[in-house]
Amino acid sequence: MVSPRRRLVAGNWKMNGSFAHLGAYMDALVQRLTGAEAACDVMICPPHPLVSLAVTATEACAERCQPIAVAGQDCHGQDQGAHTGDVAAGLLAELGAKAVIVGHSERRTDHGEDDATVAAKAAAAHRAGLTAIVCVGEALAVREAGDHEATVCAQLAASLPDGATPANTVVAYEPIWAIGTGRVAEVGDIAPMHQALRRTLEARLGAGAAALRLLYGGSVKPGNAAEIAAVDGVDGLLVGGASLKADDFDAILDAYR
Ligand code: PGA
Repeated sequence: MVSPRRRLVAGNWKMNGSFAHLGAYMDALVQRLTGAEAACDVMICPPHPLVSLAVTATEACAERCQPIAVAGQDCHGQDQGAHTGDVAAGLLAELGAKAVIVGHSERRTDHGEDDATVAAKAAAAHRAGLTAIVCVGEALAVREAGDHEATVCAQLAASLPDGATPANTVVAYEPIWAIGTGRVAEVGDIAPMHQALRRTLEARLGAGAAALRLLYGGSVKPGNAAEIAAVDGVDGLLVGGASLKADDFDAILDAYR
């Protein structure tokens, strides 16, 4: 059965990129997308200082190619206040971002963010009118112990705020052992997890869960994107390292052409 969910491919630049890189990247990506639209939503998630420039660049090419949305990589769980170095979801929205990643495993690990923190961030994103891209995923030891489905489903249930809907939330399953390691999850790893996560969404959201997009992320690259994109229950891709070169990102979009 063909899913009714519009696919999404998002490029997470992490702590990479520069003003010069962004300009060249946008030129190359727009050139690739012109006349070669991908049948999916396309999004880039540059570091926060580049969000405004990225929005300007995407708006400038809106007439030549399909929309390219811009998203932040994180936001605070509160709307404003004394939180040095943090970024408010409302400011990202004001800059023109449409979404924000929350709960990425690098945030959970580097900054000690737990599920409650992630849920608060997602709620802040919703208050600002942004789509929250809520990331979940298990460590290698958890998978090896066979506890991955229970662990990741519990993580999702606790990371989703009240008020999450298919319109304001996307979930990304990113096994930590596959992020930036080159070690790719097999179809047999991804499909059952996506089914389990879909059941968790149904338990939480009821019938509305059917429209909520569930992405896969972790060492997605041009050579494996089509196979992963074809996995039952995968509604798109969250791409890290391979999204940094416009040509590679475009080749990943081929999965949906
Ligand atoms: P990767 O990162 O594609 O470099 O493995 C994915 C992610 O962290 O979103």
